[in-house]
Amino acid sequence: MTELKQQIIDYIVKNSDIFTNLSDEIWANPELSLKEYRSAALYEKVLEENGFRVEKNFDDIETAFTGTFGSGHPVIGILGEYDALSGLSQERGALSHKPLKSGAPGHGCGHNMLGTGALAAAFGIKHYLETSGHEGTVIFFGCPGEEGGAAKAFMARDGIWKDLDAALTWHPEDVNEVKTGTNNSTIQIMYDFHGVSAHAAGDPEHGRSALDAVELMNTGVQYLREHMTSDCRVHYAITDAGGVSPNVVQEHATVLYMVRAGKVRNCVELLKRVDKIAEGAALMTETNFTRTFIDGTADLVPNFTLENVLFENFKEVGLPTYTDEEISFAKALSSTCPENTAPGFASKFDDTIREFTEEHSEHGKCGINNFLIPLYHSTAFQAGSTDVGDVSWETPTAQIHVAGFVNGAPGHSWQNVSCGGSSIGHKALLQAGKVLACAAVDLYEKPEILKEARAEFEKRTACGYVCPIEDGAKPIAI
Ligand SMILES: [Zn+2]
Ligand SMILES: [Zn+2]
Repeated sequence: MTELKQQIIDYIVKNSDIFTNLSDEIWANPELSLKEYRSAALYEKVLEENGFRVEKNFDDIETAFTGTFGSGHPVIGILGEYDALSGLSQERGALSHKPLKSGAPGHGCGHNMLGTGALAAAFGIKHYLETSGHEGTVIFFGCPGEEGGAAKAFMARDGIWKDLDAALTWHPEDVNEVKTGTNNSTIQIMYDFHGVSAHAAGDPEHGRSALDAVELMNTGVQYLREHMTSDCRVHYAITDAGGVSPNVVQEHATVLYMVRAGKVRNCVELLKRVDKIAEGAALMTETNFTRTFIDGTADLVPNFTLENVLFENFKEVGLPTYTDEEISFAKALSSTCPENTAPGFASKFDDTIREFTEEHSEHGKCGINNFLIPLYHSTAFQAGSTDVGDVSWETPTAQIHVAGFVNGAPGHSWQNVSCGGSSIGHKALLQAGKVLACAAVDLYEKPEILKEARAEFEKRTACGYVCPIEDGAKPIAI
C-alpha cells in the first residue's frame, strides 16, 4: 500500500460517520424510484458542505444531481444510487421477517449502502486531488430510479457519460468480487387500450372491449415466444383490467410489457414485434391504444482493464474484520436464506474458483463471505438488468461487489434490508469507498491504464450503442 493510498483510506475512515450516518438515514427513510426527494436533498447538502460543486435537477431529472470537484482530465465518474423497493419494510438487524410498517418500502437492494459507499469514494478522490495537486476531476453522479426509471439510461441517451474517462461503481452482494460478464437488456412499455363501454348483456353489439384487446395481445405474444432467440424474455402485468364488473364492456384496460434480450439492439427489434401484436389486437377488437415508453436498459459492456485495477486495489485494501456478534448475526440470518455453497459469479463457470469459494464459505455456513473471490474475466451473460449497462456503452466502466449481505441472501429480500441497516452494512460501504477511491488514484496517476481501458472499450463497442430510451421520453415513476 502506497502512502498516498493509505492517506486516502485514513481520510475515509476519519470521515466515516458522514457516510454511515447518511446510509442509516436513507435506510430509515426509504423512497421509491424517481421519488427520492429527501435522499437527493441529503446528498446535495453533504456534497455542498464538503466543497463539491453541486448541480441539482441534473439532466432535467428532479432527483438526479451531480457533485463535482477538480478540473481537467482525467474525469472519473462515481455512480451512486439511493432508491428503495416497495413492500420491503423491515426491522434493522432482525432475524425474521418483521416489517416496521406493513406495505411500506425498504432498502432490499442495499442502495442506502450503494450511494453512500460511492460517496465515500468521491470524498477519498477529492482528498487525493486536493492534497496531490494532480490535475483531474471527480464527479459523483446521483442516479435515481435504478429499480424503475433507469435514469442512467436516459442520461446515456443525452450523451452524459461520453465526457468521462471512466466510470466506477459497486453494488452490495453476498460476496467480495470484481464484477465481470454482462447483463441483459430490457425495455418497458405501457399499452393503454381504449374501447367503448356498453351493457354486456343488453347492448353488447355497441361495446368494444379494451380488456379483450389486452387478452388478445397477451395471446399474440404467447405465439411470439416460440419464435424468439433463447436469450429473449417477454414479461407482462395487467395493471388495469377495466373494472370489476363483468356485465360492463370494459372501456379501458392496460398492460405493462417488459421485453428482454441479451443485446440491446435485439431488444429494440423484439419490441417492434410486440408493438405489431398490440396493433393487431386493436384491429381485431376495433379498439385503439396509446403506447407509453417507461424505461429501458442496455446490456453491460465489461472492461477487463478496469477490472484488473479494481482487483489489485481490492487486494491491497484488504477486507473488514467482524466482531463475534456480527458473525453470529450473519450466520443466523444466512440460515434463513436458500443454501449457497459456492457463492459468486465466477463459481458458476470456473471449477477452481468454485472449489475456492466452497472452502472459504465453509460450504455456505460462514454467514458472511469475508474473502475476495479470485480475479475472473468473462463476457458471460447473467440474467437481470441494470442501467449501469448504458453507462458502459459510453465510457469504460467497471464495478465491484462487496459483501454487505449475508451468504445466500436473495436479491430484494427482507434479509437484505435487515443486514443493510446493520454494522455489517457500514463496513461494506466503507470498504467499497476505499477500493473505488484507491482504484481511481491509479487511473489519475497512470494514464497508460486509461488509454488501455479506452482501447478495449472502443473495440467492444465498435458495433455502436443502440440506446433503448426513445427520443422525447422522460423518466416516469410507475
Ligand atoms: Zn435491485
Ligand atoms: Zn440494486
